[in-house]
Amino acid sequence: MFEKLARPRYSVLVKLNIRTYGDPVLREKSTQIVKITKEIRALADDMIETMHAAKGVGLAAQQVGRTEAIAVLDVPASYDVDEAGNRLHPDIPMPWALLNPEITEMSEESEACEEGCLSFPDISAPIPRAKEITLKYMDIKGAQQSIHLKEFMARAVQHELDHLNGVLFVDRMSPLKKIAIAGQLKRLRRETQEVLQATT
Ligand SMILES: [Zn+2]
Repeated sequence: MFEKLARPRYSVLVKLNIRTYGDPVLREKSTQIVKITKEIRALADDMIETMHAAKGVGLAAQQVGRTEAIAVLDVPASYDVDEAGNRLHPDIPMPWALLNPEITEMSEESEACEEGCLSFPDISAPIPRAKEITLKYMDIKGAQQSIHLKEFMARAVQHELDHLNGVLFVDRMSPLKKIAIAGQLKRLRRETQEVLQATT
């Protein structure tokens, strides 16, 4: 399990709609944020609220129809552990907003783990990701940061950075898995088209 922890049992009123597979905005690349304005802070807050309402652990701008280079995460402490159960990144304050994030280093060692995505309801698949990364980003106060990440946290950040580059986890699935879920993907694309037509 990844972006989605569990299906919400009831619909909740949230500020932003989550865009699903087939929406062209998910293929757009982000533009860098040059200044942290009131609007950027409000966007981060709204994205965090939307992610929480959807019971997700990560959300990128494209998933709410925007293209600023911003992603938010809220990784539960129980996910942020090594194999022995030791906490890996206790100093990262959650929820966490990443502005203009960029991976500067990536471990050669990769691992495939099951991932989900809020833009792909009810779909999950094993996705190979680097086990460790070094991440450069600007925090919500405008300070430049660099941090080394491992395991689930590294995976979550790689997933969100993909979104900011218009890349979706379906692009990283094995050909066999893609064939297995082709029907589901087709249905989801059709549903997304219907929503887009109804709202434009
Ligand atoms: Zn996603």
